[in-house]
Amino acid sequence: MRHIIIGVGAAGITAAKTIRAYDKEAQIIMISEDSYVHSRCMLHRYISGERDEAGLNFAGEDFFEKENIMWVNEAAVKKILDETHEIVIIKDGQEMKFSYDRLLIATGANSFIPPVGDFREAKNVFGLRHLSDAQKICKAIKKDSKVLVVGSGLVGLDAAYALLERKLDVTVVEMAERILPIQLDDTGAKAYQDLFEKAGCHFYLGKKASKTIMNADHMIDTVVLDDGTELACDVIIVAAGVRPAIGCVEESRIKAERFIEVNERMETSVKDIYAAGDVAGRSGIWPNAQKQGQIAGYNMCGVQMAYIDTYAMKNTINFYGLATLSLGRGEALETDEVVICEDRHNYKKAIIRDGVLDSITLQGDIDYSGIYQYLIKNKIKLPQNGKDIFHLNFGDFYGIQDDGQYSYENVTE
Ligand SMILES: Cc1cc2nc3c(=O)[nH]c(=O)nc-3n(C[C@H](O)[C@H](O)[C@H](O)COP(=O)(O)OP(=O)(O)OC[C@H]3O[C@@H](n4cnc5c(N)ncnc54)[C@H](O)[C@@H]3O)c2cc1C
Repeated sequence: MRHIIIGVGAAGITAAKTIRAYDKEAQIIMISEDSYVHSRCMLHRYISGERDEAGLNFAGEDFFEKENIMWVNEAAVKKILDETHEIVIIKDGQEMKFSYDRLLIATGANSFIPPVGDFREAKNVFGLRHLSDAQKICKAIKKDSKVLVVGSGLVGLDAAYALLERKLDVTVVEMAERILPIQLDDTGAKAYQDLFEKAGCHFYLGKKASKTIMNADHMIDTVVLDDGTELACDVIIVAAGVRPAIGCVEESRIKAERFIEVNERMETSVKDIYAAGDVAGRSGIWPNAQKQGQIAGYNMCGVQMAYIDTYAMKNTINFYGLATLSLGRGEALETDEVVICEDRHNYKKAIIRDGVLDSITLQGDIDYSGIYQYLIKNKIKLPQNGKDIFHLNFGDFYGIQDDGQYSYENVTE
């Protein structure tokens, strides 16, 4: 059996590990545009100078040798010929074909650069998705560069953090009224804004980049906001979302509009072809990409398994020593009960829907979050014993052992 996996990110590597653990004999070939296996979540540590390329490798130094996997790096898959079970790749300018029995597409996503002024044409505008982007950013910045970061989600703040660590002048523009608008509410976000400002970061919130002024060298030196504010800059990092990397499926029968459509076994619309991770459009976070890679790997080996994402969203954020863990959907409906507990060091917010914990945010002390993961995942009815949600432990639930493995009662369907 020959498995081909396109992509050596969270989904691809996890799928490869799963297949190898199950089948020692199978032939596994991995193909990637990347030159190095690297964690995207760690790219800021590369830009800040805290880690080199090898320090971003999350698979282990000798992964491919140890697991007996052939890795074709710096190669782009251009086409999938699904009728003949082949893929076409370009490596060193040469076209090559590989045949497969089972194929996994784990190509992730690419940065989206919005058509604002000359953002798409200028030489000093970068996304931050791949190590190659981080390398370009490092090459572009000088000791006294003014950097403008557009977008203040996790990627934008990673970039801002890294460049502040390099003592550069950093400004962040965000069209929402707070930073980390998808991940946090006003209180949770303000705690990070304060820490970034203390490190020297400037913020323009509730403002959009709307025009640019580009010089004769094709470098943008001014970005104009929608209120007319002009911001001088030498380097611009755009962190305004991503688009799933679906280019290689365009000429195939695989159904994909904005992302590749998959069923719960991570199968695409074409037999023997699977997709997992950000390219499958179900979520854009690391743990879910890994889980999907694992499920795809099992199904590629013929072990039927379904992917169920019960958290909807799980995020950990950590900047300047302040940690936040968010579980669940995070948006309260009018009928939900919202419980907040706050002191000088901690901010906790729980959203309870129909007597069941729907979402929780813990900022500050994030220890002992295991119980909340368990309650959300298993939709356990909260006890009516008068204890508030932030003081519960496994002992409050009849039939759930300390390891959280069993529940006999209180579980909703
Ligand atoms: C800066 C940054 C910070 C992040 N921080 C967090 C975080 O704190 N927490 C979190 O949960 N998530 C975070 N994420 C998101 C997380 O990194 C992604 O969800 C995860 O990497 C998705 O994994 P994946 O395997 O689907 O894709 P990727 O990791 O993007 O891997 C895609 C692979 O496909 C290859 N590829 C693509 N197209 C082709 C082609 N045509 N031919 C050959 N190879 C191809 C690429 O070379 C790469 O190897 C962050 C992302 C970024 C960019």
